[in-house]
Amino acid sequence: MKSSEFYTFRGYEIIDREKNVLTPSMEDYLEMIYRMCLEDSNIRMNILAKHLNVRTSSSTKIVQKLAKIGLVNYEPYSLISLTDKGMEVGKFLYERHIIIEKFLFLIGVENTTLKDTELIEHYVSPNLVIKFNQLNRFFMDNKDVLDKYNSYIKTNMENKMSADNQY
Ligand code: ZN
Repeated sequence: MKSSEFYTFRGYEIIDREKNVLTPSMEDYLEMIYRMCLEDSNIRMNILAKHLNVRTSSSTKIVQKLAKIGLVNYEPYSLISLTDKGMEVGKFLYERHIIIEKFLFLIGVENTTLKDTELIEHYVSPNLVIKFNQLNRFFMDNKDVLDKYNSYIKTNMENKMSADNQY
């Protein structure tokens, strides 16, 4: 296991343990804080709020909740930074997002990729994220299969919505 994979795995364990603690909106904040931390490890509340399209007051409330459970460092009017644990969970959330978005892209979702990712990401188990990732890698390593799949859905299945229940 590469060190970055280990990091992600720790995030996976933490989130699995704390799934009743983190709400979808807390996850969105943490994911955004992690993304912003990739550029600068100290974040201003008003800039975070701007990135999330929310008011600074609502942003402050959620960040205080994240601070309470030890994922971010934040005092009133201070800058926001991630704790070690917050870094692990944030990395997992960030990678989960990328894996799901890539999966949707590979199976041919076009205009709604980001929107669908934002909806799905909060409700999949870490195991399913691993499965998506495996399929992504399989498609990337077998481009001929991916091409075959894409031309199959273009010619046979376009806009059909009926399931034929054959297993
Ligand atoms: Zn996301």
